[in-house]
Amino acid sequence: MSLAALCGWRGLSSGGQAEAQSGGGGALSAAQRIAGWAERARSLLQRGILPIIDTEATYGGQIPTDSMVEQMDRHGVALVCFAPNFNDPARGSRSSLALAKQHPDRFVPTTCDGTTGYWFRQQGPFLEVMQREARSGDFFLLGELEFRHYPSPAQYRARKFGRDIIIPIDGAWGHAVFQLSSETGLAFQIHYEPEDALLAPLEKMLEAYPGAKVIWCHAGQVRYPDRQSAYGPDYLRQTLSRHPNLFCDLALSEPGSRYPGSGAIHNTAQFGDGRLRHEWRRLLETHPDRFTIGSDIAPDRYEDFPTKIVQSRTLLASLSRDTAARIAFQNAWRLLTRQEWTA
Ligand SMILES: [Zn+2]
Repeated sequence: MSLAALCGWRGLSSGGQAEAQSGGGGALSAAQRIAGWAERARSLLQRGILPIIDTEATYGGQIPTDSMVEQMDRHGVALVCFAPNFNDPARGSRSSLALAKQHPDRFVPTTCDGTTGYWFRQQGPFLEVMQREARSGDFFLLGELEFRHYPSPAQYRARKFGRDIIIPIDGAWGHAVFQLSSETGLAFQIHYEPEDALLAPLEKMLEAYPGAKVIWCHAGQVRYPDRQSAYGPDYLRQTLSRHPNLFCDLALSEPGSRYPGSGAIHNTAQFGDGRLRHEWRRLLETHPDRFTIGSDIAPDRYEDFPTKIVQSRTLLASLSRDTAARIAFQNAWRLLTRQEWTA
C-alpha cells in the first residue's frame, strides 16, 4: 500500500487542486506541510513550552495576520486551524489556503464554518463547495457547522436573536456531512447545544457512521440548564466510551461569566479561577485522547486570542503532564495528520 493510501491523503501527490485553481501555484504536499508543523511544534518543546494546536477558530479578513503570528509565538501556539466564514461560494475556503501559503508552518487549511445563511438555509451551494474542497485533498479539517446554536452573548446583548439555529443533525445535510467525513477521513466540528432531546439523534448518527470523525465544540458549555439536564461529565464519559469517533474541544466562555439568555454560568468545567472542576478533571483523565483546545476566536473577537490561550493553559495545568500534552496538541495532531505524534 502506498504512503498516500495509508495516510488517506488523496492530495498527497496531486499537489493541491484548489490552490492551483486559485492561482496559488507551488502548493505544498500534505507531507511537506506536516513536516513543517512538526518542526514548529518541536521547536516549542525544545524551549520547554507545551505547544498548543487551536482546532476551533473563525477567520475573516479583518484579522491582522502579523498580530496573530506574534501572539502565537508569545503564547506557544503551534498551529491555528482557521476556518473562514462562508460568504462567497466562488471563493469558498480559499482564504484559509492563502493564509497557509503565507505561513505554512502555522495555519492549517480548514474548510469554511457553517455560521452564515448559506448553511442555515440548508440549500444552495454550501454543501457542494464543502464536498468539492474536502475531496480536493487540500484541507486537513472541516470547519464548525452550527446544528443547534443560541445567539452569542454579544448578539444577545445587542438583541440580535437571528442566530437561534435548529438544524436536525439526522437531516439530509447532516447525513451528507457524516458521509463526507467517512469518505475523506477529515474530522468535522459541530456546534450542538446539548439539549436533552438532541442527544439521541447525535448518538444515532455516530453509530450509523463509525468512520466519521466528529469534534463536538465547547465541551462543558451549558447555557440553559433546564433544557440540558442529561449533559455533563458523566454523560460524556459514557458517550465517549460508546463512540470512538467522537471528540470534543474545550473552547469555553470566560470562567464564571453568565450567559445573558438564562443568567446561568455557562462554563461548567472550570472554577472561576480557571482550574478544572474535579469531575471534569476526572473525565479528561479518563478519556485523555478525545479532547482538543479551541480558542473560538472570530473576526469580531480576535483580540481575545491571548486571553483564551491563557485560559486554556490554566485548564491544562489542572491535568497530569501526559494528559495535558495530549489535549494541548497530540490529539489534534492525530486528527489533522492521521499520524501519532512522535517526539
Ligand atoms: Zn461554536
